[in-house]
Amino acid sequence: MPRPEKPKIESKARPRAPFEINGVMAPAGKLTQVELRLARLPTGMWMSLPVGVLHGRHEGPVIWVSAAIHGDELNGVPIIRHLLDAIDPRHLSGTVLAVPVVNVQGLIQESRYLPDRRDLNRCFPGSKRGSSAAQLAHLFMTEIVARCELGLDLHTGSGGRTNLPQLRCDLDEPGTLRLAREFGAPLVLHSRLRDGSLRAAARELDKIVLVYEAGEASRFSIRAIEIGFEGALRVMKALGMIEDQLEPVEVAPRISRASSWVRARRTGFCEMKVRLGTEVAEGDAVAVVFDALGRDRSSVKAKHHGIVIGHVTSPLVHRGDAIAHIAEIPEIVGK
Ligand SMILES: [Zn+2]
Repeated sequence: MPRPEKPKIESKARPRAPFEINGVMAPAGKLTQVELRLARLPTGMWMSLPVGVLHGRHEGPVIWVSAAIHGDELNGVPIIRHLLDAIDPRHLSGTVLAVPVVNVQGLIQESRYLPDRRDLNRCFPGSKRGSSAAQLAHLFMTEIVARCELGLDLHTGSGGRTNLPQLRCDLDEPGTLRLAREFGAPLVLHSRLRDGSLRAAARELDKIVLVYEAGEASRFSIRAIEIGFEGALRVMKALGMIEDQLEPVEVAPRISRASSWVRARRTGFCEMKVRLGTEVAEGDAVAVVFDALGRDRSSVKAKHHGIVIGHVTSPLVHRGDAIAHIAEIPEIVGK
């Protein structure tokens, strides 16, 4: 990525003040690793939350990028690694707080949840003396979210489901749709705030949050990682934080305000008839469910026109299981 030359006069300017976090002074123009103490382990050692503080040499917005709030949703981890490699803090305007693994205990146990089966993304804003999930949420809110004006929260489909790379946000919030378009994922889906989610708690503090959903739990997807990495850079460019030359997105994002799942009507083996991104019309078969001898076939059909933005990956499904997630797209009006 070519770096624009900075005017010489800047080298004579007073250096930017360090970014203080958890008693650590992160100097401008550098990446500093900080460990936020989470809880004591039975051994007496501390378990901590690793945070990369990329404190730019120039003034600008403070943003966070977080991943693995669900401990098995891992595509965001390499996205953050690529960002830390690509962004030169000497040329950065602003500060990036990078938190590649929020749910440390979930990650270690290869689980979406915390050890007490709580979903961390239903425990925000948390509290200092609540459950371990509430304490973690509170730490994240006070040390990370409260310091930033915008956050990018990276997720994947939950276990046994995969998602088309997509951005989820509140399209009715001013400024959010513009940034969501800039990100350049194939789809932007309007999504209402859910109680206890990081997005809802951050919204209460007037922060913009873009949620990126791509790929599958416990798997790396190269495409999901590439789109997420480039999207994060595009948002940072739109915020004036970097000046990199970025390739234009190949296809402008589709915008959808509603989506729904179609479900299996019987138990059996599920063969998908569509891929992520396939356009479907009402009544199209998106999957076929059959028994071991291939009898009793049952088509799972789209209920409306749209694009397949998620589907089950498990070959075995039960009656009532969600099979395909279809976003309504106004331009797709039947074939
Ligand atoms: Zn998630």
